[in-house]
Amino acid sequence: MLIESTSHGLYCEAGDFFIDPWEPVDRAVITHAHADHAVAGSEAYLTAEPGVGLLRERMGAAAYVQGQPYGEPIDLNGVAVAFFPAGHILGSAQIRLEFQGEVWVVSGDYKLATDPTCEPFVPVPCDVFLTEATFAMPVFQWRRPQVIFGQIDEWWLRNQAAGRTSVLLADGLGMTQRLLAGLDAEMGPLFAQGAARRFLSAYAAAGVELPVPVPAAADAVRAAQGRGLILAPPAMAEDAAWLGSLGPVSTALVSGGMQVLGVRRRQRDIERGFVFSDHADWNGLTTAIQASEARHVLITHGQVEELGRWLRRQGFAADAIATKYAGEMGSEATDAEATAAGA
Ligand SMILES: [Zn+2]
Ligand SMILES: [Zn+2]
Repeated sequence: MLIESTSHGLYCEAGDFFIDPWEPVDRAVITHAHADHAVAGSEAYLTAEPGVGLLRERMGAAAYVQGQPYGEPIDLNGVAVAFFPAGHILGSAQIRLEFQGEVWVVSGDYKLATDPTCEPFVPVPCDVFLTEATFAMPVFQWRRPQVIFGQIDEWWLRNQAAGRTSVLLADGLGMTQRLLAGLDAEMGPLFAQGAARRFLSAYAAAGVELPVPVPAAADAVRAAQGRGLILAPPAMAEDAAWLGSLGPVSTALVSGGMQVLGVRRRQRDIERGFVFSDHADWNGLTTAIQASEARHVLITHGQVEELGRWLRRQGFAADAIATKYAGEMGSEATDAEATAAGA
């Protein structure tokens, strides 16, 4: 086993490093800067070069963060480690490990759909593929991004006609930037609230060109008289005082889990949902796994059982491997499980 699950995270004993550890360690190799994959407190971080700015923003200026260009191996105690684009968010990587003729790839989070804010997923041939499974059920089938952007623009237009500010709730790292890139910025003023602003300068520094939203101060939002669209993290849906300060609003949540009834029920106060995710859907996952040419697949981070059954039917060796990564926006995989179980 080139990688095993330990109390601190996925550990490569041969190279003496961890991948996306959930506890602080000496040497952390990081797939991407989402909070559940990039935990603070480790002595040293190594990540794909385009993600260095995001990781520094997450970890603070004191953290030791080293970047490695995509595709260029680096030697860690005799293990050749290389990063390949995962298509999930800016700088996200699959991590390829080669040791004594055996090749493992740890996928991190990934998607195959187009996203102008990050480099596209590339299949990396390997013996063992360790894959995420956030949306690994056949019910998860994403529509093309252009279709979703069209739906959101249409919703924004209707809100403008009704004099209501559009509050679009989406994860602040990755999804917010993908929406900025895809929405029609000519339609009206774009605002961003709090955490939705946090990573924008790191994207700009990495050369990702996006419309620049203005801070969602209540007086500026009200002055736009319902023409504006505010990007905000999902938690802001529970901030009644903030929402109330904006004048008339319409709220919508962007997430992959919107497709599942259990998530919709929990989001009762949110008026609209758009099914859109920075994770692969069922077809994306199965396509990526087949493209890896792996003979053994290790599954974690989501719908492990469902994907494992399907892979074994296709003739793969497939096993679960335990990790502590959260679902999309923290809880959605759990909700999907509950729904699948008839809850
Ligand atoms: Zn992620
Ligand atoms: Zn994740």
